[in-house]
Formats: sequence, C-alpha cells, structure tokens
Amino acid sequence: MSDRPGDRPLVLLVEDNETIRHAFAILLEESGYRVAQAASGAEAIERAHQDQPDLALMDLGLPDMSGLAVTRRLKGDEATRDIVVVALTGRALESDEEACRDAGCDGYLSKPIDTANLLRKIPEFLSR
Ligand code: MN
Repeated sequence: MSDRPGDRPLVLLVEDNETIRHAFAILLEESGYRVAQAASGAEAIERAHQDQPDLALMDLGLPDMSGLAVTRRLKGDEATRDIVVVALTGRALESDEEACRDAGCDGYLSKPIDTANLLRKIPEFLSR
C-alpha cells in the first residue's frame, strides 16, 4: 500500500467510549485506513467538515446528541452528505434499522462489533 494519504480511505470514528474508540482506531490503522476520532456529536460534525472522511462509523449513544441526529445533520449538509455513515447500534431491532435508514445512515452494524465482519464490510460500504 502506498504511503500517500490520499490512497488510503479516511474513517471517522465517532464513539464516546474511549476504550472502544482506541481499540477500533488501532484495528483500522493496522488495516491500512487513516483514522480521525470524535467523542461527541459536536466533535463529529466539526471533524466531518474539517477532515472530509470517506466513511464515518457512528455510535448512536453520544453524550451531547444521538448518532442519528449527527447523521441527519451530516446528510442534510451539502458539504458532508457524501460521507458514508455506518451506525454502530446496540440493539439490532428492525425499528432501529428503520430509524437508521430514516436518519440517512448508509448501513449499520450491531454491537458488540465483530471486528472481522467490520473489516469485511468497510470496503463494501466504501464502494457503494
Ligand atoms: Mn456511546
């Protein structure tokens, strides 16, 4: 893999649990992705604008607003609407999937996250 940053997709990791966020950051970096991190909804929106990530992994339970509200903001803004948003949801209920889609999420993964599945799915989400 080339060292030019532009060749490696940038993943914005939105997760308020520091342990999970750091573990995922290491996993993604070791898998060849560039990683930006946000621990709150406000931070996620700021990072999305500044860093223009290719994909955001979006925890739904954030301290200041829900991940779905963040997603609605990103998808409603021309500057950030092309970012692929994958929700990380704690409950894999049908209604949650529907709520994710309604908010504009491009996909969702149920917690606890199966890391092998996550790494398999990211390229699929990026190629949509
Ligand atoms: Mn959370």
